[in-house]
Amino acid sequence: MPELRKNPITLNWVIISTERSKRPSDFIKSQDHKEKVSRSESCPFCYGNEDKTPPEVLVYREENSPPNSKGWSVRVVPNKFPALSQSESSPERNHTPLFETLSGYGVHEVIVESPDHSATLGEYSQEQTDKVMSALLERYRDIRKDSQIRYIQIFKNSRAVAGASLSHPHFQLIAMPLIPSIVDKELLQGRNYYVEHNSCIFCSIIEEEIKTGTRIIAENNRFIAFCPHASRFPFETWFFPKEHRPNFDSMDEEDVSDLSTILRSVIGKFEENLNSPPYNLILHTAPLDLEGKEYYHWHLELLPRLTIVAGFEWGTNFYINPTPPESAAQFLRASSLL
Ligand SMILES: [Zn+2]
Ligand SMILES: [Zn+2]
Ligand SMILES: [Zn+2]
Repeated sequence: MPELRKNPITLNWVIISTERSKRPSDFIKSQDHKEKVSRSESCPFCYGNEDKTPPEVLVYREENSPPNSKGWSVRVVPNKFPALSQSESSPERNHTPLFETLSGYGVHEVIVESPDHSATLGEYSQEQTDKVMSALLERYRDIRKDSQIRYIQIFKNSRAVAGASLSHPHFQLIAMPLIPSIVDKELLQGRNYYVEHNSCIFCSIIEEEIKTGTRIIAENNRFIAFCPHASRFPFETWFFPKEHRPNFDSMDEEDVSDLSTILRSVIGKFEENLNSPPYNLILHTAPLDLEGKEYYHWHLELLPRLTIVAGFEWGTNFYINPTPPESAAQFLRASSLL
């Protein structure tokens, strides 16, 4: 059973993952086997290898095709080596005066985006991207019924440098019994701003970005994508629903369609003009027990890995970004004309 442990100084939690356990000596060996699983015979997410994953929990497939066989377009399976698991009935807390431990209760799933091993988010059809977004939503809505779960983190690691251990395109979902500290910090600041200004800080940022215009990359009816004013990384990009929406799962069909459109377009620009950099795409949404709050606004953060996070950043949580977000946004806006 995995364990969550709290650092008594920073108050950040870590997951000590026994399921994915590695002996200390495993790290001495070369790590270059990663991203080499590229042939469809050995990739568990490719057509024909459905028996190499745990049975599917959600699937969009051709009519009459039997479960856990070919014929699917999007497939969701439990992670074979889960960081957190529901194998114990509820999260249990243990305290010593100094150290706090919580049993690793949670859910860890993989959303396989396409049967095509080398396809990318920037290349999918609108229909395929809609299906991926709908699968994320369906799983989110189902998992949130578990009252022990307080937060559902959806994310995507693209390419090995960004943490993908399998190159076949997939999202992951980790549902956990606590609220991650980054979201907590965003909530706290959201609340402070709301008390002072009687409006959502994220709505104010969106309004300001639209007024200035210099950091916007793309926009449609329901969504906007821009490089944030204090971008940590070159080409860091945030996607927001333009209307105030605290929860990811408040999306309707039109939202799904507009989100797919803007994601395909922006990630397509990254792939075409920045040589498909490794990236992380992460969801930030209101915690499950904070439904409908006026001061939180869900969003996606796209973090390209064009620079290396090193000693200064680890030491200070302070980032050195060599590319002003205004230049990054201008480059991407113009890139559709290249
Ligand atoms: Zn594959
Ligand atoms: Zn808002
Ligand atoms: Zn955020």
